[in-house]
Order: sequence, then C-alpha cells, then structure tokens
Amino acid sequence: MTALLIDLDGTMVHGNRMIEGADQFIRMCRDRQIPFLFVTNNSSRTPEAIADMLSGMGIKTAGEEICTSAQAAAQYVSRKRPGAKVYCVGEEGLQQALVSAGLQLVEEQPDYVIQGIDRHFTYAKLSAAMQWIMQGAAFIITNPDVQLPTHEGLIPGAGTIGAAIEAASQTRPVVIGKPSGILMDYALNRLGIKAEQAVVIGDNMLTDIAAGAAAGCRTALVMTGVTTSSNMEQHIQTAGIRPDYVCSRLNELWGDCLSPGK
Ligand SMILES: [Mg+2]
Repeated sequence: MTALLIDLDGTMVHGNRMIEGADQFIRMCRDRQIPFLFVTNNSSRTPEAIADMLSGMGIKTAGEEICTSAQAAAQYVSRKRPGAKVYCVGEEGLQQALVSAGLQLVEEQPDYVIQGIDRHFTYAKLSAAMQWIMQGAAFIITNPDVQLPTHEGLIPGAGTIGAAIEAASQTRPVVIGKPSGILMDYALNRLGIKAEQAVVIGDNMLTDIAAGAAAGCRTALVMTGVTTSSNMEQHIQTAGIRPDYVCSRLNELWGDCLSPGK
C-alpha cells in the first residue's frame, strides 16, 4: 500500500487558485482508495478553514484530511508535558491546536514558547518571548520559512519572527514544520502507516523533499511551484538530496510512482 503526504501551496494551489488537475488527482486518489493527508507548514488557519478553502476551489476536502504544523507542535508538546503552560506567538490556527491538545495558553511563566505566523506581532510580544525563553521556557517554532510567496510578491514568513526571537533569546528553537521530520512523523502517525509506505509530494526541495527524506519516506517533486526545470539542479545541490520522482504535474505520478501494484 502507498499513502501520500501532499503539500498545498505550489503543489495543489497557488494562493487562492487551484493548480490545474489537482482536483482530478485527488478524485483519483479517492477512487483508488489511496490514503492521503495534506501537510502544511501554515499554522495560521485551522484545518477546517483550510478544508473549506480547498472545497471552495473544487477539491472537496474534510478538516481531518489536513495536517498542520500547529497540530504537530501541539501534539509534540502535549506528549512531552501534558497540560503544559504555553506562551503562544501565533494566530487562530495555532491557538486552537494548542487548546485542543489540552495545553494552557498563558501570558506569565510558561513552560514553552511556541511561535507561528503572527500578523499582529509586536515588540512587546518579542520581549515577552525572549524573557520567558531566557528564564527557561523551551522554544518551539512551527514554520522556519523566512519568506512567503504571495501574488503580490514575497512577504515575511513565520520564520522571520522566529529568527527575531532566536536572535533576542540567543536560543535555537525546536523546528516542527518542514524541513523537520517532526511534522512528517506526526502525519504518518495520523495515517497509521510506516515511512516506507508513504510518498511525500511537494514543490520545494528544501522543505517538502528534505522533510520527506528526513522521515524516511519516498519523495516526489512537482514543478508547479518554486522548483522549475532551470533551477532544479541548483535546489538539489543545496538540499543535498535527490527526489525519488520528478514530474512536471501531479497527474504524471500515476504512470510513475503510483502505478497499479505499487
Ligand atoms: Mg509548497
């Protein structure tokens, strides 16, 4: 059996537009009963909000089919310390995931500082995060991406805020999102499968493919996002790994890594 861990931006969608053929790819996965999860570093939105967005584009999706770095971070912490006190720098998706995992959101004396994208980030939040980490709180970031591509160009990503907290506190965070294997391990667990059974599909060598390889999964690179035929070799060199499959579009995977019997 093969199961799929599928990236969203640059693989299924471009911002709020579906990538051509993505709906058909998911329909075929359902027809052939291939288990899959969408796996995203985005911690700002809840799984339900992301599923609604995909459904609105024609990719009918349920919240349980979305796996976010916020959920993986929440589980990571709740396993280490059930009911831990958390100072959260983040938006609704992260806050909700932490509360759902039984963690307590606090402003004072946290056990953990957990950071995701926060478009209301302030100097006061930076100061608080720095202070708590320097007093011994563990530091966790959901998403190390420092830049976020939008249709209006690049904007600062969650990783830029994490980098500010890291610089201020002089402390390296635990990274949950891709390229860390922690998010992939969480997704594999949710599907109840082993790494060898999974193919990680994504557009980014440095995040999706690196995370898949770190977790021991097979990997498939699609050319619908950040990687193009002209920059692919350079990205492969930088990542120091090679994807198992390369295809220009998602649906090409059917003839290759998803052929019957595999
Ligand atoms: Mg992507």
